[in-house]
Amino acid sequence: QGVGAQVRLEDLPLRADLRGKSPYGAPQLDVPVRLNTNENPYPPPAALVADVTAAVAAAAADLHRYPDRDALALRADLAAYLTGRTGVALTAANMWAANGSNEVLQQILQTFGGPGRRAVGFEPSYSMHPIISSGTQTEWVPAPRDESFGIDVPAACALLASLGPDVTFLTSPNNPTGQSLHPDEVAALVEAAPGIVVVDEAYGEFSSHPSAIRLLDTHGDKLIVSRTMSKAFAFAGGRLGYLAAAPAVVDALQLVRLPYHLSVLSQAAARAALRHADATLASVALLAAERDRVMAALAAAGYAVVGSDANFVLFGRFADAPRAWRAFLDRGVLIRDVGISAHLRVTVGTPEENDAFLAAATALASTEL
Ligand code: PMP
Repeated sequence: QGVGAQVRLEDLPLRADLRGKSPYGAPQLDVPVRLNTNENPYPPPAALVADVTAAVAAAAADLHRYPDRDALALRADLAAYLTGRTGVALTAANMWAANGSNEVLQQILQTFGGPGRRAVGFEPSYSMHPIISSGTQTEWVPAPRDESFGIDVPAACALLASLGPDVTFLTSPNNPTGQSLHPDEVAALVEAAPGIVVVDEAYGEFSSHPSAIRLLDTHGDKLIVSRTMSKAFAFAGGRLGYLAAAPAVVDALQLVRLPYHLSVLSQAAARAALRHADATLASVALLAAERDRVMAALAAAGYAVVGSDANFVLFGRFADAPRAWRAFLDRGVLIRDVGISAHLRVTVGTPEENDAFLAAATALASTEL
């Protein structure tokens, strides 16, 4: 049925290392309470929507032309935003942007990883790091976290020195477990690692720790800090990720980026959204307070709760995590089975969504899951 339906994936001349793999992605299900992909639960304010709409309308008049390939105006705005948050005087030359931080990470691996090269990350962590490594044919070497999902920094430094990775991933706060690294710890790890170190700060705005961006002046020969507008910034649908680094690193990335990768519409929409940063980020304190409430309530219901510095909470312990995930779904609450045995991850939502989740969690606490 349908054109080409007789062609089977297993008969295609697929790269050997992609055979038998499944695409990454959480189930996108239409249920009342969706707490599975770490988005900001609050829709953008009306003024932001109006501003994005007007900016996109104006940009549409130029749709017959390619966009600014270097996205210079957007990069200047991103630099101003990060400078305001961190106090580090960044300029457009320090910034790079792409369609989500996943694309940023892919460009980093295309530039600094690749065949014959090695990437290391401390697991469990964001599972796209090994997937993007594999997609760029970079060898992935998992390194361990301790029992409470933190990184034993001296041990990790020794490991990095001996493994000699071309690219090291540090996720802070770590998805899906929630711990942050202090910049002093990041500095020690960057000094121990021989190659590029990517600090993935997708959840940086939620963290109580300062950003690793303050290390760029001293460690810019190896450090890249990646960020995204998808999480705290309430712009997941807009697809805008970015990084801060030394200008030479940004120059290096130009060697692999596709020309005109960021559409004129994306650039205009992101710039408009950035003008409303203060209003959007007003939700961060609220979400952090809700996170603390969710953690306390889960603990009170008898769950083991992993302390989080982000907008999600890993909790357990379940005899059968996939079955427990299904039990939450049956109660209209979609959370995430991240593949860590005995644990599930819940994104912090609005107070009403969190109440619905906690009601399900409390009801399920007494059952055999
Ligand atoms: N890094 C981490 C740690 C993440 O959790 C995510 C999103 N799940 C990303 C990067 C990618 O997000 P985006 O491509 O939307 O910027």
